[in-house]
Amino acid sequence: MRIEEMIAAVQAQLGVEVDGKAGPQTWGAIYARIVGRKIDGLRPAEAISPVDARSEKVIATLLPEVQPMARALVQKAAAVGISIKVISGLRTYAEQDAIYAKGRAAPGTIVTNARGGYSNHNFGIAFDIGVFESGRYLPDSPKYKAVGALGVDMGLEWGGNWKSIVDQPHFQLRPAWAAGLPERQMLAALRDRRAQGQVFFT
Ligand SMILES: [Zn+2]
Repeated sequence: MRIEEMIAAVQAQLGVEVDGKAGPQTWGAIYARIVGRKIDGLRPAEAISPVDARSEKVIATLLPEVQPMARALVQKAAAVGISIKVISGLRTYAEQDAIYAKGRAAPGTIVTNARGGYSNHNFGIAFDIGVFESGRYLPDSPKYKAVGALGVDMGLEWGGNWKSIVDQPHFQLRPAWAAGLPERQMLAALRDRRAQGQVFFT
């Protein structure tokens, strides 16, 4: 189900205006639906259960719309026996520039082609996960593909489907207005919105 369809379905169920634009309550209900939690008697936002502390620290840096999706992905993976943590979230433009400098102006090897303002991580809509086994972080594992399938099923975009740089740990929630836009155009619009102090999800 596309995320816009899920938003409309959940809004209809909650009896709120169906506009395809989710507020915090709707995101809570979407989370509950994704993880199969009953929300009878709960406000939708109360249905959201926190995950491990390390992930929660990173999830707190994401936009409110993205937070329930990240938690749901951790819990969906756990339900199929895969232990993941959210290990990277929001990066400032300066932090992105520092990563971009690696292998260029700074020592090391190149790890990104995105300068500050050119990564979805700079806008709080993207996060990276790590697969863990017996508490040990695995940078490579076939489990990343399984988690990718779960994320796509939830309406997230998965970096494993990218053509240029395949990025299996990466997930992002695309705002509805950016549906179908090339990545470069979405990032340009996000930079404009940031510069004008506009919200990203409307
Ligand atoms: Zn990423």
